[in-house]
Amino acid sequence: MKYYCMTLFPEMIEQAMNTSIIKRAMENGILDLETINIRDYTNNKHGRVDDYTYGGGAGMLMQAQPVYDAYQAVKEKMNGQTTRVIYVTPQGRPFHQQAAAELAAEEQLIFLCGHYEGIDERVLEEIVTDYYSIGDYVLTGGELPALVMMDAVARLVPGVLNNEESATTESFYDGLLEYPQYTRPEEWMGRRVPEVLLSGHHANIEKWRLEQSIERTRQRRPDLYEKKYGGEK
Ligand code: SAM
Repeated sequence: MKYYCMTLFPEMIEQAMNTSIIKRAMENGILDLETINIRDYTNNKHGRVDDYTYGGGAGMLMQAQPVYDAYQAVKEKMNGQTTRVIYVTPQGRPFHQQAAAELAAEEQLIFLCGHYEGIDERVLEEIVTDYYSIGDYVLTGGELPALVMMDAVARLVPGVLNNEESATTESFYDGLLEYPQYTRPEEWMGRRVPEVLLSGHHANIEKWRLEQSIERTRQRRPDLYEKKYGGEK
């Protein structure tokens, strides 16, 4: 998987991606990241990339020209191949694990990060294929949402996680939250690990975990519980 990330703050993206599991995947050649500094493509001799909004209102808007020219530069790097261009925006459709799985099947993805009040609508209409939001709140820029998406997608790219880090038992994998987990010691501050987990009886452990998953989902995410079981339970 190759990520291209168009941003005004490439160092923020690079620093975060250069850590832990994602760093290992990049070193192993399973993931690749190229940041494109939108400011490098402005025609403005003072390096400006934003301007006031037509019609008035607070704040500045990123202009179409530098974003479009940065996109053209990415296209050149891709040797004419096309791919999805994701604009992260609070106005996008909610980003979920299912969307992460779908995006993980792509060979490359382009992320576009907005800043200030966002980006001139005309360039979005021209280049964007997908609009995604990471939640119903407004952040100062698209870098954190792009990082969230790149991280969630990367974990589902074959070879990024090793067996011990497998994504197949995690929350959302089958529409449920994951069961509670414990590691050594067996007793900590008077709290013991549930006996069944020490029993070595795999069928009982699986049964306990499923029950815990269902109960946890019912309590903490009734919306997911309802979706999975409907009127069934
Ligand atoms: N004026 C925009 C609006 O009301 O929809 C918000 C702009 S926000 C201050 C600046 C940038 O941060 C956006 O262009 C977008 O790229 C990013 N952003 C902020 N919140 C986000 C969210 N919840 N999900 C995805 N991107 C977000």
